[in-house]
Amino acid sequence: MKTILITGGTGFLGSNLAKRLIKDGNRVICVDNNYTGRMENVEEIKESPQFSFIYHDVCAPLKVAEKVDQIYNMACPASPPAYQGKHSIETTKTCVMGAINMLELAKEHNATILQCSTSEIYGEPLVHPQVESYRGNVNPIGIRSCYDEGKRCAESLFFDYHRHEGVNIKVIRIFNTYGPNMDPKDGRVISNFICQALLGKDITIYGDGSQTRSFCYVDDLIEAMVRMMNSDKEFTGPVNLGNPGEFTMKELADLVVKKIQSTSKIVFKELPSDDPTQRRPDISLAKKMLNWQPQIDLDAGLEKTIVYFKGQLNIQ
Ligand code: UDP
Repeated sequence: MKTILITGGTGFLGSNLAKRLIKDGNRVICVDNNYTGRMENVEEIKESPQFSFIYHDVCAPLKVAEKVDQIYNMACPASPPAYQGKHSIETTKTCVMGAINMLELAKEHNATILQCSTSEIYGEPLVHPQVESYRGNVNPIGIRSCYDEGKRCAESLFFDYHRHEGVNIKVIRIFNTYGPNMDPKDGRVISNFICQALLGKDITIYGDGSQTRSFCYVDDLIEAMVRMMNSDKEFTGPVNLGNPGEFTMKELADLVVKKIQSTSKIVFKELPSDDPTQRRPDISLAKKMLNWQPQIDLDAGLEKTIVYFKGQLNIQ
């Protein structure tokens, strides 16, 4: 049994990870300020003696009395509507100060720390599919830069703490992921399309719908995260984690409408600025080093996700 701290532990990914780690017999300390995290995501595990919750903003240093073995640093709003606009400065602070504070905690506890970085660090990619050696094409002053540059700076901090302070680090770059525990009001494409289709509302495609994304079902991603955390000490990453199946947003909208047999009509809205045109992970490194590849395709993953959102929206 290990003691594992998760920042962002009540969020979509954090709560799925917490459940998995508890099932594996670990002790889990979940840290969150619930800005986008939700206590209902940890309802099932909240009473477990293996679980505890610390209400905390990672922008402030954190002291933990018991010895921590592993830290997953996941705290950060991750949906464009949540991280942009009036929350953009907090987003950069969460990425940068959160990384420093959690790296200091890892150093103090001699814990291994895993950083949840993102495909966003590639910006509007000029290399397709994206490989880890690609350095990206980020607009440093655009509306997404609070997140993109914040996450890039966090990667930089992780490698400097590794080089100069001897901290054991792991860096993963997460591509679009979906599944249970997403907030219906999150604003990301899969939650929007499914909820709109279930409620008979217009399906909102931004732009002409020709932009692409690659969607990974959450259970596949969590498996890869646990493998990465427990991989050889020398393997720091960064490593891409995602499902290489690539779809246009128009294809996604059509698939969701068909699966739900919805009467919703598709409407086209303005494309937000700096919205990447294409995105697909090259996962050769994850296959080789973690012996991992996704098992759940978009069709099967959407099936499970639709059941979850029906529950959230009280639809039979
Ligand atoms: N998108 C869309 N309709 C929506 C929400 C998002 O067409 O209701 C598009 C968005 O412009 C982007 C893609 O879907 O091109 C993925 O958006 P999301 O916010 O899920 O994640 P991103 O990959 O942009 O961080």
